[in-house]
Amino acid sequence: MRICADVGGSFVDIAMVDADASIHHRAKFPTPTRDWNGFVDIFRQFQALHADKMTEGDAISLAFAGLPAPDNGRIISANIECTHGRRLANDLSQELGRPVFVINDADAFVLGEARLGVAKGHRRVLGVILGTGVGGGVIEDGKVVTGIHGIGGEWGHGQVIIPSPKAPDATPLFQCGCGRMGCLDTIGSARGLERLHHFLHGKTATSKDITHGFVSGEIHAVATVSYFTDILAGVLSVVLNTIPATIVPVGGGLSNSTELIAEIDRKVRASMLDAPEQPILAVTMLGGDAGLLGAYFAAD
Ligand SMILES: [Zn+2]
Repeated sequence: MRICADVGGSFVDIAMVDADASIHHRAKFPTPTRDWNGFVDIFRQFQALHADKMTEGDAISLAFAGLPAPDNGRIISANIECTHGRRLANDLSQELGRPVFVINDADAFVLGEARLGVAKGHRRVLGVILGTGVGGGVIEDGKVVTGIHGIGGEWGHGQVIIPSPKAPDATPLFQCGCGRMGCLDTIGSARGLERLHHFLHGKTATSKDITHGFVSGEIHAVATVSYFTDILAGVLSVVLNTIPATIVPVGGGLSNSTELIAEIDRKVRASMLDAPEQPILAVTMLGGDAGLLGAYFAAD
């Protein structure tokens, strides 16, 4: 068995995963974001508890909320500061005495869906996360395409919202966490949907309220979702014209609204050059298990 973990900014979701990808002994701990020793201890203690289920070479594999550099494994993580700049796989391996693998969490989500979930059997997969932010990953022939900087599939950054010189104040131009202005991430995420709703109507509402309002025909929510899906689908159609994936698994909090995802799918296919007749967006099949299972396959 392998120890697999989905390590986010709030929680470490950790479990033993068997060769048939079944999940056992799952546990959840708050992430010690600024305490390296506390971070290592989670894995040390879990390993001690389940040492009898592992053989000597069995790995520990992490889906991680950060980007490991492909050449040296150094981590860029805004949320888990005690790991930032560390060669995480290497450092953890020295502490724990086992091989350690680290994969970006969005890449893990897509890898899980491609190997076992809704994208199983597809050669080229673009996975999309619409959660706190906009993320994603690309899988080709069962392997993650990271690119030389490890940012493969990160389609949420780069300015797509351009103010008109005639009416700059009418443009929903927001500062992005990456330091740029007008990234898709500032609008296309759950927080972005809320930000856009406030910008358009001066109303504070949760993303859940807005998607429910869209489904029930509430006029302001419908207007917000219409603009939101226009922008998101426009960018996604360009990405899909460029990386001709045959399926787009969608995860993150916004994927809970099947009506929203169906609306994005409709607009994406209307905007693509050579769109399939069947939906191309598909809501996650593995849900909250995708990260853990993707981590498992990353150690193959
Ligand atoms: Zn950005």
